[in-house]
Amino acid sequence: MKLTKPYISFQEIYAASRILKSGNLTQGKASARFESDICEYVGSKYAFVTSSATTGLHLSLDVLQIGEGDEVIIPDFSFPATANSVIKVGARPICVDIDLKTFCIDPDEIEKNISEKTKAIMPVHAFGLCANMPEIMKIARKHNLRVIEDAACAIGSTINQQHAGTFGDCGVYSFHPRKLITTGEGGAIVTNNDELSKLIGISRSHGGVRAELFFEFIDSGYNFRLSDINSAIGIEQLLKIERIISARKKYAEIYNILFEGNSLLTTPSVPEGYSHTYQSYVVLLSKGVDRNFIIRELKKLDIESTLGTYSISSQPYFKEYSAHKKISVPRSNFAFAQTLTLPLYPGMKRRDVTTVASALLAILDKKYGKTL
Ligand SMILES: *Cc1c(COP(=O)(O)O)cnc(C)c1O
Repeated sequence: MKLTKPYISFQEIYAASRILKSGNLTQGKASARFESDICEYVGSKYAFVTSSATTGLHLSLDVLQIGEGDEVIIPDFSFPATANSVIKVGARPICVDIDLKTFCIDPDEIEKNISEKTKAIMPVHAFGLCANMPEIMKIARKHNLRVIEDAACAIGSTINQQHAGTFGDCGVYSFHPRKLITTGEGGAIVTNNDELSKLIGISRSHGGVRAELFFEFIDSGYNFRLSDINSAIGIEQLLKIERIISARKKYAEIYNILFEGNSLLTTPSVPEGYSHTYQSYVVLLSKGVDRNFIIRELKKLDIESTLGTYSISSQPYFKEYSAHKKISVPRSNFAFAQTLTLPLYPGMKRRDVTTVASALLAILDKKYGKTL
């Protein structure tokens, strides 16, 4: 059984082939439509589709003029793209610890790590659950910091009906196949800020603005556009998002029930008012449980599983970026060692969920018994 499988059917195939037949392949009408659909769905004023979430984060930091000499506070427990986007604009990512209940950045750790160089906070909405945005926005206002939400895993996630990505100066979604909806590769930046929206639009496409006959290049921009082939797929995917979320919630709930009361693992917790989309269903194995052994045993049964995500500061390349500062992130390190992602996708059957849960419980029972 696979960890995940994109929810694609004939509508996406038809939409993509229609673009291919039309001859207009790069960013055009389909992308504009996808952008307005995203705005409508999440309740933002602007959306800009990009070639990935990573390029979306890079572009966001760039237009916010974050660069050389600046620090950006990020959670240590995330996919390295979060840190890489900061590094690639010349700024320094400051990795701080997480809350083990939510796997999201701990607001107290943000406060502790603010320096005179801090320019922005980049919270990550881990696995489809929003970070504590009310607290984070309070801290940002108090210290006059920018907030760029890494909402790569979180299109459709909300706090009291407000969508992930719409709390900060801007937010960035991913449409990689591991996420809720996919365009193959792709991403989108959302913002409510007029000024920012102008800069994003220009920098996304070579720094050019359209004059009467030609472009005029007013800045050194990028090409971070998404093609209309991808956007056409995205339009169809977004129409299915509520179905996708409700299937994921239903299966997560079954896992939660089957794992209830087992002292060897902790199921995802959802704070009051938050809606978890379970982009990944991640359990935390108790201290002493050998997570990698479990992954190998599940693999023998043809069940794919993996770690939750990475401790960024534990990655070999990161040493030179942390050299100036001692990083202490015990909860992120624990999560890096003890999280386990289980198969979850809309195309699964209820029976598949019980098969996975029973297999995991049997492996745990055989190796550790009921007491550890
Ligand atoms: C997937 C992911 C990214 C990168 O998204 P791409 O679209 O593949 O560039 C960035 N941040 C987080 C937290 C992610 O999970």
